[in-house]
Amino acid sequence: MDNCIFCKIVKGEIPSNKIYEDESVLAFLDIAPINRGHALVIPKKHFENIYDVPDEVLTDVIKVSKKIAKAVKKAVGADGVNVSMNNEPAAGQVVFHLHIHIIPRLITDGLKSWKSRGDYKQGEPEQVAEKIIRAL
Ligand code: AMP
Ligand code: ZN
Repeated sequence: MDNCIFCKIVKGEIPSNKIYEDESVLAFLDIAPINRGHALVIPKKHFENIYDVPDEVLTDVIKVSKKIAKAVKKAVGADGVNVSMNNEPAAGQVVFHLHIHIIPRLITDGLKSWKSRGDYKQGEPEQVAEKIIRAL
């Protein structure tokens, strides 16, 4: 992908702070960290998001994410780590080359995770679950 910023990082055409590399996966520091040590794990090949990535590649990426999560936690003395992926603009995806965020968290960092927006109505969970099962 000619215009993809993460493909350019893979090719070394723009700089990054690389922390891990193997034949299919690259990890580097996020340029605008949520907390110090915030890292991104990407497949070297261009896939847009979770919908189009082959299972084998996703397996490589998630295995490396586990390794990086442990290393980041240790390196910055974090109390916890968020591991997350944004898919499509509605979910906050800005760079359209699949990436997993590894975000070190501190009990004192003051960041809030998502809050529930309320309960289901009676009978609704069953209906929603049924719809999802039919969509599988
Ligand atoms: P998302 O909103 O999930 O698409 O996140 C994209 C992430 O990529 C953001 O956290 C950006 O700070 C990060 N980012 C964008 N450009 C670069 C870059 N050149 N080097 C490192 N991280 C970047
Ligand atoms: Zn790309």
